[in-house]
Amino acid sequence: MTNKLDPQTLAIHTGIHRSQFNEHSEALFLTSSFVFDSAAQAAARFSGQEPGNIYSRFTNPTVTAMQERLAALEGAEACIATATGMAAITACVMGLLSSGDHIVASRSLFGTTVGLFNNILNRFNIETTYVSATDPSEWQAAAKANTKLFFMETPSNPLTEISDIAALAKIAKQIGVLLVVDNSFCTPIVQQPLKLGADIVIHSATKYLDGQGRILGGAILGKRDLLMDSEIFRFLRTGGPALSAFNAWIILKGLETLSIRVKAHSEHALEVARWLEAHPNVVRVFYPGLPSHPQHALAMRQQSTGGSIVSFEAKGGKEAAWRIVDSVRLLSITANLGDTKSTITHPATTTHGRISQEARAAAGISDGLLRIAVGLEAPEDIKHDLARGLQ
Ligand SMILES: *Cc1c(COP(=O)(O)O)cnc(C)c1O
Repeated sequence: MTNKLDPQTLAIHTGIHRSQFNEHSEALFLTSSFVFDSAAQAAARFSGQEPGNIYSRFTNPTVTAMQERLAALEGAEACIATATGMAAITACVMGLLSSGDHIVASRSLFGTTVGLFNNILNRFNIETTYVSATDPSEWQAAAKANTKLFFMETPSNPLTEISDIAALAKIAKQIGVLLVVDNSFCTPIVQQPLKLGADIVIHSATKYLDGQGRILGGAILGKRDLLMDSEIFRFLRTGGPALSAFNAWIILKGLETLSIRVKAHSEHALEVARWLEAHPNVVRVFYPGLPSHPQHALAMRQQSTGGSIVSFEAKGGKEAAWRIVDSVRLLSITANLGDTKSTITHPATTTHGRISQEARAAAGISDGLLRIAVGLEAPEDIKHDLARGLQ
């Protein structure tokens, strides 16, 4: 399949390798190992002289199909699938970094990523400096001789701050470090970081790539030499954070509808954001698709939509916010996102509850802040569900 085809077409037709049965829908290969025709073939496969499957910890036809399809959508040469999004980040940093190296990362990263960097990597003498998501000059200033990676995600969670991928890619190239972008929130339908100059894209496939809250999965995408002829693939092969064939099949089929799903999520999110902005009991709405967003122009330059995450500050602080959460009947009270079902979270007492009130305030996460991952229910019903508590 060539890259000239539309993403919607690539999402349906890339990665098809029919078996002897000529199945129309992609087959699911639930097998841990693969058999060889002869001792000589086994030897050739193990030595790498002959391509082909050996063992599903490192290759499996269903996983390969999913990797090819996601790579086509991101415009990447190669893709390595992993068991979870965190496994993708772990494989990436374990593959690219050594003791004594340094990371510059956005201050508004997914909490578990911060945990990995601060509590695990630091035990291996890999240090991370956190800088502003929105000010590229801070990244340049924080870089040192031993800096190997810039690590970011955009829009940020829960405040939807936008990082300028092209600007950070330029700085990264100048000083010779790799730019890694966690693209879980946007998916390749909304944003393609590799085209903006990023070196590596990370996905939690658990979110929109599956899209129905069923399975965990992850992926690393980028240039072939950076992923496959490097320590990243070796880490996958020996460290073992492999994606199961069954989960790969779920994601593979999920990708076929990714484009229409993500566009619908975005349309619903915009409608809910506009309605919230006009509500008298809402202090402020954070949504990159609204002209009131401080980085609306940048967001519209590097994203095709405003995305699916809407945060807002309710008038009346924590008490009001909790009342809204406790009044919902349709929205799910859970921190997960990327599902057909809308979810609502109170960041100050859940995802960001372990950091001090001062640190939260400095990060702009007020007690009245709520985050909604807008699902595929009718926007009218989502609004009604929120209106009850907002009154
Ligand atoms: C969920 C998430 C992750 C971690 O993914 P898992 O599949 O839960 O391991 C990483 N980054 C972002 C932005 C996420 O939302």
